Amino acid sequence: MKKKCKRCRSELYQAEDLKWFCLSCLAAEIEARDEKNSVKGNWSVLEPETKAVTLRLSEQDIAKAKARARKLGTPYQTLLKGFIHQALS
Ligand SMILES: [Zn+2]
Repeated sequence: MKKKCKRCRSELYQAEDLKWFCLSCLAAEIEARDEKNSVKGNWSVLEPETKAVTLRLSEQDIAKAKARARKLGTPYQTLLKGFIHQALS
């Protein structure tokens, strides 16, 4: 099944959580956010160049991450990315 982005008409991709997303629009969004936060440098530190990886996590950890992410109103992948970044820096 293929879907097209309403904004730029490019092909959409389906994420693990089954949400459809547009790579080029997402990239543009991240770029705009980087620019907006460049004074603080938050996101530019958190998201330099990214690469997709596949991880197997325990269901318990995923459930905990999702619960915490819901409270914070952020995607759980973003939350986990932040945790990994913190632990490594
Ligand atoms: Zn798009």
